[in-house]
Amino acid sequence: MRKKIVAGNWKMNMDLSEGLKFAVSVEKHFRENPSDKAQVILCTPFIHLAGVAEILKNGKVALGAQNCASEASGAFTGEVSAYMVKSTGAEYVIIGHSERRSYYHEDDKLLSKKTLLAINSGLKVIFCCGEVQNEREEGKHFLVVKRQLEEGLFSLTEEQMDKIVLAYEPVWAIGTGLTASPDQAQEMHKYIRDLVRDKYGNNCAKKLPVLYGGSCKPSNAAEIFSKPDVDGGLIGGASLKKEDFAAIVEAI
Ligand code: PEP
Repeated sequence: MRKKIVAGNWKMNMDLSEGLKFAVSVEKHFRENPSDKAQVILCTPFIHLAGVAEILKNGKVALGAQNCASEASGAFTGEVSAYMVKSTGAEYVIIGHSERRSYYHEDDKLLSKKTLLAINSGLKVIFCCGEVQNEREEGKHFLVVKRQLEEGLFSLTEEQMDKIVLAYEPVWAIGTGLTASPDQAQEMHKYIRDLVRDKYGNNCAKKLPVLYGGSCKPSNAAEIFSKPDVDGGLIGGASLKKEDFAAIVEAI
């Protein structure tokens, strides 16, 4: 059985005290209602990491960052390295989110470098891929995802792939209210797993969690999660509402 995962991506929301207060209430919810099926992860802004790590410390909810630097250390003003993220108590980092790819021009080569640094720092990587709307309309979505994986991820060894969680996030569905249909999600997730199988073999492909992200909410989560190659979700907007996030985890 593959591990099921529901990861919340808080994006750039909440000041320090709001974030810590929210983490306390999420932690309390999952302490009182533990999910026996899914690993729950909170991916917070950098400023929240150390404080949220303290709140989650003895519980079942794991912690992740949303980004890390492409260099290990040194004169890179304003950057936060993977090693620094790890030192907060975080276990995961999101790499390759479409907002980083488009607003900060992060390309496959840079993402490959970040991924390797993150793994070498002891983090697990939630690696995002997905096409924009016109790429889907032009029927290029499989090609785009293939390129993102081949150039951003497939320089890893099979052992390093053990530290990867993939997230398929069609960009046209992120924060838009549009969602991939369960069949569209399944079709792409299966395609991704087949690519991983071709490159790394069946064992690796079978173990790899592939999450869906893009306007996932309580009303559509169960149907999307019921598909055989969908192993959970990366949740943006709905992860900022405890009841919605809890209901999505429940849908697993
Ligand atoms: C995301 O940012 O990863 C995401 C899936 O956002 P949303 O759920 O708001 O579409």
